[in-house]
Amino acid sequence: MKTYSIAKPHIGEKEIKAVIEVLKSGSLSLGPYYKKFEESFAKKIGVKFACAVSSGTAGLHLAMIAAGVREGDEIITSPFSFIASANCILYVGARPVFVDIDPATCNIDPEKIEEKITKKTKAILVAHIFGQTADMDPIRALAKKYDLKIIEDACESILAEYKGKKAGTFGESAVFAFYPNKQMTTGEGGMLVTDQEKIYKMACSLRNQGRSENMQWLDHRLLGYNYRMDEMSAALGLIQLQKIDWLIEERRKVAKLYEKHLFGHNDLLRLPVAVEGNTHTWFVYAVKIKNKKTNRNEVIEKMKNRGISAKPYLPSIHLFKFYREKFGFKNGDFPVSEEISRYSLALPLYIGLKEKDIKYISGELAGILKKIK
Ligand SMILES: *Cc1c(COP(=O)(O)O)cnc(C)c1O
Repeated sequence: MKTYSIAKPHIGEKEIKAVIEVLKSGSLSLGPYYKKFEESFAKKIGVKFACAVSSGTAGLHLAMIAAGVREGDEIITSPFSFIASANCILYVGARPVFVDIDPATCNIDPEKIEEKITKKTKAILVAHIFGQTADMDPIRALAKKYDLKIIEDACESILAEYKGKKAGTFGESAVFAFYPNKQMTTGEGGMLVTDQEKIYKMACSLRNQGRSENMQWLDHRLLGYNYRMDEMSAALGLIQLQKIDWLIEERRKVAKLYEKHLFGHNDLLRLPVAVEGNTHTWFVYAVKIKNKKTNRNEVIEKMKNRGISAKPYLPSIHLFKFYREKFGFKNGDFPVSEEISRYSLALPLYIGLKEKDIKYISGELAGILKKIK
């Protein structure tokens, strides 16, 4: 039986060559690829500065510190995201204030933000989920009206566009991630981008133990961290970045094939919605089961028996145990997010899946759903 994982990186000969070259060079950290990767990345996104870090989570932590977020502050964000986008708020002692999501895109619902703004609100941390940006015009209008910062978690949405403007260019800073399931990978890794030199310099210092700019090894001006990206990862990232448009185009083809083969089953499933005018870059292809009596986890189990990995995408952050305990969140707090968390599953999405694969996966899924019904 052929098996399908949920995600898979696409590593070519060029990447392998570049990493080997780094290994042979002996310059395994803070070498030439590091800078080249940062400069190319900034250029690709259309921002002035990019600071490579050891993970998306590390980048988000630095974005919070650089924004001056601290104890007592409230940060508005979405409960429907990967946990790192809320954890970074906790790292600096601030409070996540969740706002429910738009059921179509699974991104934060701008209409529900204003009622959550208080005197303590410092920023809106916008997570662009699944490869599509949030509805940024109303969010930017609110940020302006209440003098709030915008910080983007663009970890799932590299090169996604909103009305022609790229994810990562809407806020004071934005963070991308390169874990192997993302659209491009460095193994582990992330990138903080910004147009503000001050934020860039601070992030670069903080990732490197708070060292001052001239990199004197024993001069530590700030409480920093070791969030550096190693040179092998940077080399891998640079080559992946050179083919990112192709990587995304190939993902888009797979998404289109799912649409083609699942469309006939839209009585059983709600397919992902790409908002008109948006460029979707397909981090995952997540469908939502329509029948409320269906046990989604049972569907995932049955898919697994047929060699197909599917995953619950995503759990709502406020319902994780330590969020419940620390902040008193409970079932029913964010019903839209909770419903999608309960009935959604992500299907295999990676480069190399052919039409016959998608036809098989789609057919099996539909068959399972019909039988359970
Ligand atoms: C992947 C991801 C991150 C960061 O993940 P790392 O594993 O730390 O690189 C952050 N936020 C979201 C929404 C993500 O999907």
